[in-house]
Amino acid sequence: MARSLIISRFVLLFFFSSAFAGTPTRQTTVRVVNGVEYLPVAGVAANYGGRCWWAGNRFVLLLSGSDSSLQEFVFITDSNAVIHNGKKLRLPLPALVEKKQCYLPAVLITALFPGLTVPPLNTVEGEKNKDTVVLRLLLNPLQRPETPLLYHKQKFSSLELRLTLGARTDSGFARRLALFGLTSGNPLLNRIELDTEALGVHLLFTFRQPVMETIFTRANGIELRLWAKPQRRVSRVVLDPGHGGKDPGAVGARGTQEKDIVLDIARRVKKQLTAAGVEVILTRDGDYYVTLAERAEKAANSNADLFVSIHANAAPNRNARGVETYFLSEAKTDWERAVAARENAVFEKELSNPLIKDNDPVSLILADLAQNEFLIESSELAARIQESALNHICAEDRGVRQANFYVLRNIFMPAVLVECGFISNKQEEKLLCQPEHREKIARAIVRGILDFIPDYEKRLNGTRE
Ligand SMILES: [Zn+2]
Repeated sequence: MARSLIISRFVLLFFFSSAFAGTPTRQTTVRVVNGVEYLPVAGVAANYGGRCWWAGNRFVLLLSGSDSSLQEFVFITDSNAVIHNGKKLRLPLPALVEKKQCYLPAVLITALFPGLTVPPLNTVEGEKNKDTVVLRLLLNPLQRPETPLLYHKQKFSSLELRLTLGARTDSGFARRLALFGLTSGNPLLNRIELDTEALGVHLLFTFRQPVMETIFTRANGIELRLWAKPQRRVSRVVLDPGHGGKDPGAVGARGTQEKDIVLDIARRVKKQLTAAGVEVILTRDGDYYVTLAERAEKAANSNADLFVSIHANAAPNRNARGVETYFLSEAKTDWERAVAARENAVFEKELSNPLIKDNDPVSLILADLAQNEFLIESSELAARIQESALNHICAEDRGVRQANFYVLRNIFMPAVLVECGFISNKQEEKLLCQPEHREKIARAIVRGILDFIPDYEKRLNGTRE
């Protein structure tokens, strides 16, 4: 009579703790690495009268099956391949090799014993319950395990799910699975694939739209509940009019002050965005000074999705004109460095704030990390605003640029700084003083933001988990 045993983590644990008591040379505890539970293969071998040994970079495990057939498994160091009786299989979860010990994910241990009564997966069924889809992976009713079926979930995106089960499949499972995929007509589920090259039962679920899920272990198998992931909307924007109060910003030949121009543009952007259904928060709404920390704090507390700082430019060359849009990154040109230096100047005194302390490289890196995460989005938002500015105000295109603006550093969302025109240029100063021109600039910024939002929403709701 062959040994008959249903293997589960609990049974294995019991065996290990009793079998290895007093033999401290063997690791018998479950180890958890990256959320995966591991068991030592040597312990399994010892409990089944199997043998295992190292041969070069290989770990060989020999077990006798229920029908006295020999089961050979060869694990290769630094590889996700395992060779079972000469057939190469993939490990859906990596093995752990440490101090001449080989550890396997607990959920895969069962796959080493195909001759024993490993729970056999028999069929799949599904039903829709309001907005929830219920999928059941059912075991053969004649061979139900006494202990819960083990599973391990991997989810790299909300459009797919990988499930490794401590089970085997019975002869008809693959066919029933394919049939289910063809006939279920499920609104969320695209397909379920059985990975026939993997050790153990490894299923790949792909979805028609981003989903969330919970998984339950039942007496008759595994139950998945799936529902559509709530879509995240971009609904709030922080507008940051530069300067204010004691800090006039750039001043033109006619005495025009940057702080007044940019506040007026910001208010116009706010009005238009609000009309388009986007909520707006201003970091200042009057002629007063706002510190760097206060601007960052306002952005952080606003639970907003985008940050747009609005400025006007100045250059020693009085002919310089046009629009530039910046995102935070290291300046590449002397001009970019000069613009950042001018806009940062007033904040220099505030740099005692530990988060934005300029002379401390670690603080600097931490602060920049905030924006690094949104580097691509910020550069795209900059591109949209720049493109829109060219369309709306026929300005000279000075391009999307990058520089180290303190005001963008501690902002945990896509963030850009728009230089709307040159106060130092006589003609542009005159234009900036005209309400119609400022209205056009506002419209350009609004269009850029509104063009960016759908793409950004797609990314927020798409594949990243
Ligand atoms: Zn400025």
